[in-house]
Amino acid sequence: MVPMYQRNLGWIEVICGCMFSGKSEELIRRLRRALIARQKVAIFKPKIDTRYSEDHIVSHSELRIPSMVVEDPREILHNSLESHVVGIDEAQFFDEGLVEVCRKLANMGKRVIVAGLDMDFRGVPFEPIPELLAIAEYITKIQAICVRCGNPASFTHRNTPEVGRVVVGADDIYEARCRNCFEPPEPESADSPKSKKEQKQNSNSDS
Ligand code: ADP
Ligand code: ZN
Repeated sequence: MVPMYQRNLGWIEVICGCMFSGKSEELIRRLRRALIARQKVAIFKPKIDTRYSEDHIVSHSELRIPSMVVEDPREILHNSLESHVVGIDEAQFFDEGLVEVCRKLANMGKRVIVAGLDMDFRGVPFEPIPELLAIAEYITKIQAICVRCGNPASFTHRNTPEVGRVVVGADDIYEARCRNCFEPPEPESADSPKSKKEQKQNSNSDS
């Protein structure tokens, strides 16, 4: 017997990785293809990220596609009711409400493509990306090139003393680094896990 496939099946795709890994490029590539196929596409980015443009997603290599700036993820739901495909960039800057919004959109039969940083500048998982990875059908993790040694890079190194999780910038303050070259900042409290640098110093002094 031939199985019956549901035609309007929705799903969630997540594109993750460190800064400069090409998440925006990959998101733009997928969205352009959908547009070529004459699908209705709605594209969003958070208000916090207007580094390059107010009304476009712009990659570091200057690919661009028009997008709408939203503050609250629930605005995405209201503005994509007519769309087949929903694209969301810099998803780590949205609150946890984004997870429910993506779930609802996929349940409505839409293709939801979300791009975002999976770790912050300390190497700690960056919500709500871990939750989105858990409920996504398709996951793409991509790497940049480590600016120190040329190996594949999965970490985002911040070159400023600022400790806040969100400091908007590009190659002026951030670098792609591999696991060996990544130097997480010093932990803020005594009971947080020790930094790699600190662990190295301790093991040197122990020997
Ligand atoms: P993301 O959205 O993941 O930050 P983008 O798609 O905006 O990444 O940018 C990817 C582009 O960044 C690359 O095509 C390249 O032109 C540029 N780039 C700058 N630094 C690096 C690096 N260290 N490794 C790889 N690409 C880099
Ligand atoms: Zn390296």
